[in-house]
Amino acid sequence: MPKIGINIATGSLQQAEMIVGIDLGTTNSLVAILHPESRQPVVLRDQEGLALVPSLIYFGENGELLVGEQARPFLSSHPERTIFSVKRLLGKSYKDISDHQQHYAYKIVDEEKDSLVKIKMGEKFYSPVELSSFILKELKDRAEHMLKMPVSKAVITVPAYFNDAQRQATRDAGKLAGLDVLRIINEPTAASLAYGLGTDKQQQKTIAVYDLGGGTFDISVLRISNGIFEVLSTHGDTYLGGDDFDRAIVAHWWPTLVGSEKSKAVDPALSASMRLAAEEVKRKLTTQVQATGKAAGLDVSLSKATFEELIAPLVERTLVCCQQALQDAGLSIHAIDEVVMVGGSTRVPLVKEKVSAFFGRTLNDALDPDEVVALGAAVQADILAGNNIEFLLLDITPLSLGIETMGGLMDVLIPRNSKIPYKVARQYTTQKDGQGSMRISVFQGERDLVVDNRKLAEFNLKGIPGMPAGFPKVEVSFLINADGILTVRAKELRSGAEQQIEVKPQYGLTDQEVERMLLDSITNAGDDIKLRALTEARAEGELLLGQTEKFIARNASLLTQEEMLRTAEAMQSLQLSLTLEDKDLIQRQIEALNEISRPYAERAMDQAVAGALKGRSLQ
Ligand code: ADP
Ligand code: MG
Repeated sequence: MPKIGINIATGSLQQAEMIVGIDLGTTNSLVAILHPESRQPVVLRDQEGLALVPSLIYFGENGELLVGEQARPFLSSHPERTIFSVKRLLGKSYKDISDHQQHYAYKIVDEEKDSLVKIKMGEKFYSPVELSSFILKELKDRAEHMLKMPVSKAVITVPAYFNDAQRQATRDAGKLAGLDVLRIINEPTAASLAYGLGTDKQQQKTIAVYDLGGGTFDISVLRISNGIFEVLSTHGDTYLGGDDFDRAIVAHWWPTLVGSEKSKAVDPALSASMRLAAEEVKRKLTTQVQATGKAAGLDVSLSKATFEELIAPLVERTLVCCQQALQDAGLSIHAIDEVVMVGGSTRVPLVKEKVSAFFGRTLNDALDPDEVVALGAAVQADILAGNNIEFLLLDITPLSLGIETMGGLMDVLIPRNSKIPYKVARQYTTQKDGQGSMRISVFQGERDLVVDNRKLAEFNLKGIPGMPAGFPKVEVSFLINADGILTVRAKELRSGAEQQIEVKPQYGLTDQEVERMLLDSITNAGDDIKLRALTEARAEGELLLGQTEKFIARNASLLTQEEMLRTAEAMQSLQLSLTLEDKDLIQRQIEALNEISRPYAERAMDQAVAGALKGRSLQ
């Protein structure tokens, strides 16, 4: 089945490598390839014919590790040792998820609120990256087993709303699993590719991708033109999915089965068994009008009509998100050319009906909704392998591009992995009164401080008319064209003063260098976050000192002697704190100084207002 080639340089036989496409899901994960003979994407199944690998990891008491279907029984018998929904934790800090801690039966470490989350299992700590790598490793093994050859390259999909940290975490998980992640692509983009949308270069289309999975709902509006996908908007609910359908069914059964017996109400085994029965019955109702099952030895049943009543409000909530996504994209429903259905829960007939009615269109739902993302990833993998040269390669920026702002911080305008061409603009202002020029320094890299990144170019925007600090509006725009050439332009909007420069961002960086810079950013991520907070606190402190000094010079007569003294003291303490490495201390000193200056600042304001009123009455 795999192609055999000859390496012309060495004369040796070479087996063409297969690049796999992976959907790393919250509930289920799977792997697909483009079949070399049929040229169609296909998912890889195990001996039993199952394509889905449940995203579950069970840690046995004796150190054994079970991934996927084998881990499922332990979800109800050993919930504290069975990890689910790890995707939700990727690239997150404890602070990000603390509101949802009750959602997880396993132990999420909460000591350091700002650093990335870890999970405690016995004596060991695991990061979500490691845990995700176990799932990816399982998929890699499956692919190698089925294809009978080593697999080391992959395309992995992520939700469109994933930020850079989450994408990076996904990439790292791949690396840990022994996979070279050639590209991270958006799930809705993959789903559209699976339906062949966007393969015609002449076509311009606006696509809504409706993805209702096990625990999450995402709606993305994409525009595809010239073979390039652009995400116009995304919306969704990170805690709404098929699991909520199951819960609604359990809640419906609960009173008749359990009655008022309090002891049963907290029995985890009973509720787990009821949830399983609910899921089974729900699935049957996709094709039947009535279904039965067994929960903890008791017979349960449900009609399709009752099921639809139970879930109608949940489906309604997804439509509200769709409305919002359209609004964010500035589009009316009529602007949508295609609606793509993704996720196991879109099998529910009521969901299809409601979505179809909402968009007023027939749906793209011919493909298996829980396979469609992996199929699209396989299509993309095949394009990367160079087997599909007809198709335009969607190129991306390998490293982030940005400019230096106050305190030597990197302000990213074009994030890493952005598809090109790309255009973005952001407004900045001056720091000093009467500042006539502004230095624009362009950097490439992932670190928070520009000194750790690579400088690409620098120029001066001159001719800014004399104005107080904060008044000029300088718009800096970055444009990368299809050839990867970056043009940076700065324009002062009030005066029209303008300057621009052309840069070749990729030039001179080898793959190894890119790799090293990325690795650097991972190993230093924690430090960088701290350093950024410290730098920001210092900049804020300095600003406040400058302002206070100016204020006192102008309004000395307004201050009592005691206020003057206390202000001087607070300024001194703040000044001192700026030399120390403690952002909390700086913040406290800023607060203290603000506290002291508030009363006389208010007095000064009152006086200014009174003055202005007086001025007016004179006219
Ligand atoms: P994720 O993207 O979160 O990994 P999936 O797309 O695999 O999730 O969807 C899993 C969800 O789909 C589960 O809640 C499952 O119960 C539901 N599901 C799968 N098949 C059906 C079906 N035939 N009818 C209703 N729901 C289904
Ligand atoms: Mg999914």
